[in-house]
Amino acid sequence: MKNPNTLNRSVAFLTGIGAQTANRLEKLGIHIVQDLIFHLPHRYEDRTRVYPIGTLAAGMTVLICGKVELTDILPRGRISLVCRISDGTGFITLKFFHFTANQHNALKPGTLISCFAEVRYGFAGLEMVHPEYKVITNPDSCITETRLTPVYPLTEGLSQNLIRKAVKQALDLCSNEPELLTDWIPESILKQYHYPSLAEAIQTLHAPDESVTIEALQNGSVPALKRLAFEELLTHYLSLRKSKNKIKAWQAPEFISDKITTDHFIRSLPFKLTGAQQRVIAEIEADCRSQHPMMRLVQGDVGSGKTVVSAYAALLALTAGYQVAVMAPTELLAEQHFRNFSAWFDGFQTQVVFLTGQLKGNARKEVLQSLADGRAGIIIGTHALFQDSVNFHRLGLIIIDEQHRFGVHQRLALREKGQQNNIRPHQLVMTATPIPRTLAMLQYSDLDISIIDELPPGRKPIVTSVIPAERRDDVINRINSWVNKKRQVYWVCTLIEESEVLQCEAAEKTAERLIQALPNVRVALIHGRMKSTDKDAIMQAFKNHQLDLLVATTVIEVGVDVPNAGLMIIENPERLGLSQLHQLRGRVGRGDDDSYCLLMYQSPLSDTARHRLGVLRGSNDGFVIAEKDLELRGPGEVMGTRQTGQMHFKIADLARDADLLDNIQKIGEQFFTESPQAVQPLIDRWLGESTEYAEV
Ligand code: ADP
Ligand code: MG
Repeated sequence: MKNPNTLNRSVAFLTGIGAQTANRLEKLGIHIVQDLIFHLPHRYEDRTRVYPIGTLAAGMTVLICGKVELTDILPRGRISLVCRISDGTGFITLKFFHFTANQHNALKPGTLISCFAEVRYGFAGLEMVHPEYKVITNPDSCITETRLTPVYPLTEGLSQNLIRKAVKQALDLCSNEPELLTDWIPESILKQYHYPSLAEAIQTLHAPDESVTIEALQNGSVPALKRLAFEELLTHYLSLRKSKNKIKAWQAPEFISDKITTDHFIRSLPFKLTGAQQRVIAEIEADCRSQHPMMRLVQGDVGSGKTVVSAYAALLALTAGYQVAVMAPTELLAEQHFRNFSAWFDGFQTQVVFLTGQLKGNARKEVLQSLADGRAGIIIGTHALFQDSVNFHRLGLIIIDEQHRFGVHQRLALREKGQQNNIRPHQLVMTATPIPRTLAMLQYSDLDISIIDELPPGRKPIVTSVIPAERRDDVINRINSWVNKKRQVYWVCTLIEESEVLQCEAAEKTAERLIQALPNVRVALIHGRMKSTDKDAIMQAFKNHQLDLLVATTVIEVGVDVPNAGLMIIENPERLGLSQLHQLRGRVGRGDDDSYCLLMYQSPLSDTARHRLGVLRGSNDGFVIAEKDLELRGPGEVMGTRQTGQMHFKIADLARDADLLDNIQKIGEQFFTESPQAVQPLIDRWLGESTEYAEV
């Protein structure tokens, strides 16, 4: 009888792997034999061909073959053995900092050797440092490998050799009993996309045959790689979708809208809702009627009016006798929501309260009490809202604004926090980060997506120009004449460093210089390290036009609404992602007049950077910009590291494999109906014990 579970046994089952090694493998997420099979090389080395030395360039990792011309010990600096070899097409220096007398003797002039290492630039031209090398007798014995050498991700205490041997054993088990490794991708899909079977794909990636080139492996065009990347992406989709199915099965309060109240609300707004806002509101209403938790993401460009849509959802909850929590990523933004909600719900017989970490003492007690006894219908704040000390009377709806600031983890955790008795609140999340459609389908497959694809009428496009920092004086003049026209200006300072302290220091210096250069302009500085009351005072003063120029760090990315400020200068825009720049820029263009954004870069600008800033100049559509950013810099930049950090892929690369995303949703849905039995095994295979999308 065959043991069908061999692949599910601990790696310690394999020869040569003891408890200690097994422990180390755990650090790589390798627990069972099957995990080894899916521990794929992250790169390859090519020892299958010899490169003429004359064709080498720094950065190549290659096999070469040549005759030693001279060998010497250099006492200069760190003592080293250097050796020059040539093959008639060129020469290269080998360098050893650790060496023995035997080595020195063996590398005497005239000796033929083969070397493998990365080529670098050294003092004397190209060099290889500590190459693997072998003395050979004839040039034909130079090549010892017919296949590319896999290089695996390692962790401390593990060697390539050990992993290679372990993987080989696992692969042998599979080839002896192919049925051990189930291929969950149906034949029809394999045919349609010309994908190899799972066994073939695995074999190819661990031990590529002669037909596979290193270039094809690097650029991802090898069908084996595509197939596995596809399977992995599909699994991520299935996992999130599964968690959505589970959550959707929970009970949630039923909000039946009352036409008199909703009409009253809509009529009391100072503007008419756009068609897109009305459509999304209808989608939300339908969700909230279903007695199961709504889980909806509202995507809409900056200024598309998402807040009022969420306020409408809040109205539905209040009408049904439930409370609403509105969470914003920054205090500034929370404050603005508080003002808006307070105005919109004035006359609706509910209390809107505000909670941040700053609120202390009796004021805080009073807010918490009003929540607990149900007097307060809407609470607005930062993530302080979800501390243990906050108890709701009857929470029915959670609204999360600018959700891109929070990762998948937080999103899932919040659902749990909001649970009361057996009822789970509805959840509405909003983001102004326009995520390319296909990426959103993967990343947010646990959410339903609504898109507000229309701006309120009368908004004029922002005129964006790209200028070098050398023209700073022109920019200063422009600010002067702009302020003379009674208009206001933002000056945004950016820094590569994540350090807030450094950002603030830079902004302080800039503000000082601008105050000197612009004596007739009222300048103020706002940054993330200021007390929130001070920030508030400055924002208020800017809003009241007691200030002309606001120097800011990227804290103003969200939450500021000053229609008279129609000019924004962004320093060093090349450091930021396009979507973030687009969001910053969205702070201007909120009034009826023309508005401008000057992207003032530090020369020299790389071609990619020039191209990217050009995209921003050419388009005011956040979705177009996000698509381009995905193309140019990959999803990390589009989504912000904090978020892509949540999705770890073993082999898929969202930029390289973007073409795969198109079909993931369709095929994923097919899986739920046609091969539901494949879902869990795929999740076990690719996500293993990762708790990332665990049931919440
Ligand atoms: P965002 O989608 O970026 O969060 P906001 O909700 O802050 O946008 O809305 C931006 C501005 O547009 C606010 O001042 C808001 O009151 C206003 N607004 C929202 N909807 C409309 C509309 N339909 N017509 C005119 N102005 C609107
Ligand atoms: Mg907003």
